[in-house]
Amino acid sequence: MPAGRYMEAFEATREALVNQCQVIVVGGGIGGSAAALRAAQHGLTVAWIRGDAGTARASRARYVYNVDNMIGVSGGIVQRKVLELLSGPEHAAAREAIARAHFHIGVPEIVEDVTLRLTADFADVATLIDEKAIAARAGDTGFVVETDRGQGLRAGAVILSTGVMDRQPRVKLTTKGGKVVDDIRWIYPWANAESLLYCILCEGHLVRGTPVAVLGASDAAAQVALLLHERYGVAVVLLGNGEALEARPETLRLMDAYGVAFHGARLVEILDGESGRKGESLRGFRLEDGTQVPARFGMVAMGLHRVYNDLALQLGAELDAGDGPEDARHVLVDDATSETSVRGLFAVGDMSRHRSGTPSLKQIYTAQEYAVRAVQAIDRRERAVRRARVLERR
Ligand SMILES: Cc1cc2nc3c(=O)[nH]c(=O)nc-3n(C[C@H](O)[C@H](O)[C@H](O)COP(=O)(O)OP(=O)(O)OC[C@H]3O[C@@H](n4cnc5c(N)ncnc54)[C@H](O)[C@@H]3O)c2cc1C
Repeated sequence: MPAGRYMEAFEATREALVNQCQVIVVGGGIGGSAAALRAAQHGLTVAWIRGDAGTARASRARYVYNVDNMIGVSGGIVQRKVLELLSGPEHAAAREAIARAHFHIGVPEIVEDVTLRLTADFADVATLIDEKAIAARAGDTGFVVETDRGQGLRAGAVILSTGVMDRQPRVKLTTKGGKVVDDIRWIYPWANAESLLYCILCEGHLVRGTPVAVLGASDAAAQVALLLHERYGVAVVLLGNGEALEARPETLRLMDAYGVAFHGARLVEILDGESGRKGESLRGFRLEDGTQVPARFGMVAMGLHRVYNDLALQLGAELDAGDGPEDARHVLVDDATSETSVRGLFAVGDMSRHRSGTPSLKQIYTAQEYAVRAVQAIDRRERAVRRARVLERR
């Protein structure tokens, strides 16, 4: 074979080897990090496509700064350990500074920790790719996933954990120059400072003892308002922001009984307090009809804007039968393994929904649990094939 052709063939084989692995994980958030780490810990070769700055900006993962519903994931543990280490009198000033600091643990820290562990301890089996996965198809021996920078990766199994994005409230704000700009961007400082909340299960308890406004106009939003009042006894109002309330008669009767008022007028201003940085001390909302609604927290309950299901759709996975648009529907998965209707394709985390209808709580620890279940299923299959080959040869 001429040298050039030989090198070409050699490069092609090498490329195939580099790009062939046992599992491809797509998604650089909670489910993806848990799947990638567990796959590597099981000795499976794994390519973890983590996305890029654009996918991160459009994901939930990036905005979860302070996890305080997971036992064991607590900044307090870290803080106490550091304080113990600095016990001598010479460290008095450092102890004081550390005692004052907030040791928040958020999704970015959790994912970074997994990244560092994979790079330090599992570089032989794990490849990290900070690109966006843009296409997926069935190949001869599994799947091919392509990235926006031209990589084509092959694997026998794919785990998707590309997440979802919530619908965000727009504010019809008049700028200092007198221009009306109707946009979601006005909420960012309050969303970033956890004055606007999104997850009733993980953040609901923050509203204890304070007035709260729930943003939404559906029956589900009204149910969030009722629940916050029932759990925490706080004053709650429901803000439709231009939408009419669509709630069941029983929900309306309960709202009446609990004194939960509904205002349908558009939001025109978010009122901030004096203390801290912008967004940290929400005082309430001003509506277009002149009403001022006092609130220390806003709970956004407007449903989902997107489920990032494109790759699952390209591979032919079944979605739930919701009546919303296709790009806001969850991927149906088996309850025990998180496998989709396509064999070898798994979906975990916020983008997935159990085929049986059993709700899975959309939380960090549930995304992690189902990521691990998916890896377990892949590992079982890989080992079954290996056993069969071993026995065939005997
Ligand atoms: C404001 C807020 C606060 C929350 N607080 C808590 C809490 O305190 N405790 C708790 O348990 N849960 C909390 N949750 C819920 C929790 O964040 C989610 O359940 C969890 O992040 C879901 O993980 P996931 O992997 O499904 O999605 P995400 O963590 O959102 O990750 C999705 C990832 O996919 C990547 N991606 C998307 N498309 C592509 C692509 N085409 N190619 C490559 N990568 C791609 C994105 O960049 C992102 O990294 C909170 C949610 C919100 C919105």
